[in-house]
Amino acid sequence: MIYLDNAATTRPCAAATEAALNALKENFFNPSALYRQATEVKNAIEESRSAIARQLACKSEEIFFTSGATESNNWAINSGFKNKRGNIVITKGEHPSVYEPAVFLRGKGVDVRIAPLTSDGKADETALVSLVDENTSLVSVIHASNETGALNDIFALAEKVKQKNPTVVFHSDGVQAFCKTPAVIGASKIDLYSISAHKIGGIKGVGALFVRKGLNLSPLLLGGGQERKYRSGTENVPSIIAFGKAVNSFDTEKASKMYDYAINSLKNIPNAVINSRSADSTKFIISVGIKGIKSEILQHMLSDKGVLIGLGSACSSKNRGNRVLEAMGVQRDYIEGNIRISFSPDNTLEEIGSAMKIIKSTVSEFRSRINE
Ligand code: PLP
Repeated sequence: MIYLDNAATTRPCAAATEAALNALKENFFNPSALYRQATEVKNAIEESRSAIARQLACKSEEIFFTSGATESNNWAINSGFKNKRGNIVITKGEHPSVYEPAVFLRGKGVDVRIAPLTSDGKADETALVSLVDENTSLVSVIHASNETGALNDIFALAEKVKQKNPTVVFHSDGVQAFCKTPAVIGASKIDLYSISAHKIGGIKGVGALFVRKGLNLSPLLLGGGQERKYRSGTENVPSIIAFGKAVNSFDTEKASKMYDYAINSLKNIPNAVINSRSADSTKFIISVGIKGIKSEILQHMLSDKGVLIGLGSACSSKNRGNRVLEAMGVQRDYIEGNIRISFSPDNTLEEIGSAMKIIKSTVSEFRSRINE
């Protein structure tokens, strides 16, 4: 099997699995208890928090564990939208876990403004800043697109937005960027940053939200007071401990070689367009639209041959569109045949070479079948 759907999820790395198993079998104590064994579990959680904080160059106490980035994003949108007044600005490139909470608020009468994308999949910065005014409470801009890997310069954007309105809470969904591109969040103007463990060799069901110290965010869950009273509930200890191990083990070295190799091969497929267009995209995701092919069928044909790739996310099961690609102006034919190839440090250049040959031959096979 050649697994190239790492933007959907990754295989947990060895260090993460080992740490999680140890926490399940041996260090199962409740970190809130006061005996030594429990304190050791608490310390292991804090080590994990520190590993994440080092990666984001922020303070450990600014990291709050959640059940994943969907939760982090929902928390950020709902709580970042202070006093439920004014307006919110997001982009057409947001993941559903930002887009849907914003659309939900719009349904409740909130003024939600949605900035367009440029043809290379980035937020249109000028349009976005022009949507911000003195009544804007929250701006949310995805860091790396889960569809195309396009990177937004969230650091410059946060500066520009705050020049216009210093009271704005600036959130970014950093799931597909975390560990893959430098993110010095601590020294930036970003207030909230969401991350998830299972995209970087951690375990599903744990994520975190960076909350800038001093920001008046409402608690997500009330109860026993865990996560410094912001997110109560007994901690998901095995996954949290594994998260830190995954951060420390993530290796970006091979990614650009694999990316360059794959993109050059995919460019040679006739009637295919690369939707990962900008030179500074993350080196972990390639989106390619192949004309005349239904991507689900191609996905099945490839999986039969041992190559697992992803699809761009559809707007809904009824609608075969894709909001992000549509916002980039990609033609319908290429959206229907859009596939997403995404890497992890587990992949090798040899695997990419084999997968590219299989993808090319499968596309030819598919096309010759429909022309019969
Ligand atoms: N944001 C982005 C950009 C993602 O790619 C994903 C996962 O697909 C999420 C948020 C949701 O993360 P989780 O699976 O941890 O809820």
